[in-house]
Amino acid sequence: MTRFHSISLFLVKVMLVGLIVPLAAGLIISFELEKEDMITRLAEFHQRSLDTLIDAAEDSMISFSPEGARNVVSLLLQDERIVKIEIFSNIYDLYLLRVSKETTEHEYNTMELVQNVVKDGEDLGFVLVAVDKDWVKPRIAEERNQIIAMFVTMFVGGLLLVIPAIYFKVLRPLDRLMRQVEVLSKGELGIPYRWSGRDEFSMLGKTLDDMRTKLDKTFSLMREMAITDELTGLPNRRGFYGEVEKLLWLSGRYKHPLVLALFDIDHFKSINDNFGHPVGDEVLKSFAGVISSRIRKTDLLARVGGEEFVLVMPETSAEDAHKLLDRLRQAVANYEFPHAEKVTVSAGFSEFSGSGKLEGLMDIADKALYKAKQEGRDRVLFGQ
Ligand code: GH3
Ligand code: MG
Ligand code: MG
Repeated sequence: MTRFHSISLFLVKVMLVGLIVPLAAGLIISFELEKEDMITRLAEFHQRSLDTLIDAAEDSMISFSPEGARNVVSLLLQDERIVKIEIFSNIYDLYLLRVSKETTEHEYNTMELVQNVVKDGEDLGFVLVAVDKDWVKPRIAEERNQIIAMFVTMFVGGLLLVIPAIYFKVLRPLDRLMRQVEVLSKGELGIPYRWSGRDEFSMLGKTLDDMRTKLDKTFSLMREMAITDELTGLPNRRGFYGEVEKLLWLSGRYKHPLVLALFDIDHFKSINDNFGHPVGDEVLKSFAGVISSRIRKTDLLARVGGEEFVLVMPETSAEDAHKLLDRLRQAVANYEFPHAEKVTVSAGFSEFSGSGKLEGLMDIADKALYKAKQEGRDRVLFGQ
């Protein structure tokens, strides 16, 4: 047995993987880049602060005037990144300046840069600048949150776009197609689905609809063939039974008269014997034409046997039916059939009482027909 895998489940998985993997990769890469950038910027700032300090410290070291550098130092210390500054003079062998933001309660995780100050080949001393290494941490965290927020937005946005697209463009038409195929596979025709798009699903759906239309035509033709007599074009026995019950029901329901007559062509066998079967067929066709051209549209004429026909006449009393049937008998007797010989017909008829079965009605008409044959044929008899 074939196991079917739902395409919807597969698409959801692919979509999730397809969205999550690149987004996660993008997230990690941008986070790493951002972190590196932050550290580089701190290092640059560190170096710049050191250079500024060296410039400011040179003269103070020679002339022992810390005031000159003090302004620069206090300016630098205003920046939260800088934790410690030291200026040491070799000439005086002492610290001109030594400030630190570190206290016993707050120790920083620092990174120090030290550089000797040299002028005209003489080593004047050194300056030291320490920055807070942890300064980047909250900023990196903030940056990370922003990046995550951005990627979540992108992911949700992506889903909001992709899910309806997949639903409307793939899953829904697929479901429709499945239902269409299911109906067809049960041998039912259902209703046409009327696909209007130009995509692959619509093409498939249209093909199925075309198939449905063709099947519909074939089925109707087959149904028509099953209830029609090929030779005369009249309803056959099956067609007759399909329609007569409705006429009987209407007659009984509204208490309107209805008459059923059975015809049997007289000595039909001898026509076949004397002129051949094809001529017999022509006689049957002509007979059907003679009768059907003289009855009402609401009457039901059917060929129920070889040369036996039944005529149901709704809204007709036995008296009127008798007159009509006799006219029909005469019309047959006077008609010029293809083999140029006279053809006669016998008929028996019965009147519907408003209740009772079709079989009973047929039986009475058949007995009357038998009697008509017995009494010499070419006659119409009422069966009671
Ligand atoms: P009766 O007056 O007693 O009705 O005599 P009959 O010869 O008509 O009676 P019977 O029922 O014996 O003969 C009917 C004949 O109709 C027999 C059969 O060969 C012929 N028949 C039945 N169907 C067809 C048909 O489709 N075409 C032709 N040509 N003949 C058919
Ligand atoms: Mg017969
Ligand atoms: Mg006959």
